[in-house]
Amino acid sequence: MTAITLVRGDITRQTADAIVNAANSSLLGGGGVDGAIHRRGGPAILEECRKLRASHYGRGLPTGKAVATTAGDLDARWVIHTVGPVWSSSEDRSAQLASCYRESLRVADALGARTVAFPAVSTGIYGWPMHDGARIAVETVRATATSVEEVRFVLFDDRAYEAFAGRLR
Ligand code: ADP
Repeated sequence: MTAITLVRGDITRQTADAIVNAANSSLLGGGGVDGAIHRRGGPAILEECRKLRASHYGRGLPTGKAVATTAGDLDARWVIHTVGPVWSSSEDRSAQLASCYRESLRVADALGARTVAFPAVSTGIYGWPMHDGARIAVETVRATATSVEEVRFVLFDDRAYEAFAGRLR
């Protein structure tokens, strides 16, 4: 059984086997969680991301996929980068958002990670409505077979925390 836990805070302050980054497909950094992870994690993460761009992911990491790197100076063994979809009011991209959680857990399983901290993927710069993002996150984790023992959602503010808490009640 995978336990789902909630924390209000900054994901870069978490201790976990793996910390998930809400990356963009360039893998070369950005704002929000991505910027914070690279700032606190140090240059080793970006260095590995550049290597991924030079090898397997020449065109970047596709939306809905996930890939791991070192966690650099973060209190974790790995960062799992996943690329959420940009919210669209005209197109249903929820399958891609669900895929982020599923693929991240698949990568975590391959690494042997037992505790994984997730942000609310796509709900920041990418504009996904928080309540729907929380619904997809919780439903997908519950529906995914994984050896991960704890999935910890790390929510940046009260609104995000309450949206996730509402899904777990
Ligand atoms: P995206 O581009 O996928 O929308 P963002 O990083 O902009 O990713 O935002 C994803 C979510 O993470 C938002 O709800 C945002 O408020 C939150 N967030 C931003 N910085 C942090 C952080 N340091 N720790 C945890 N959550 C964060």
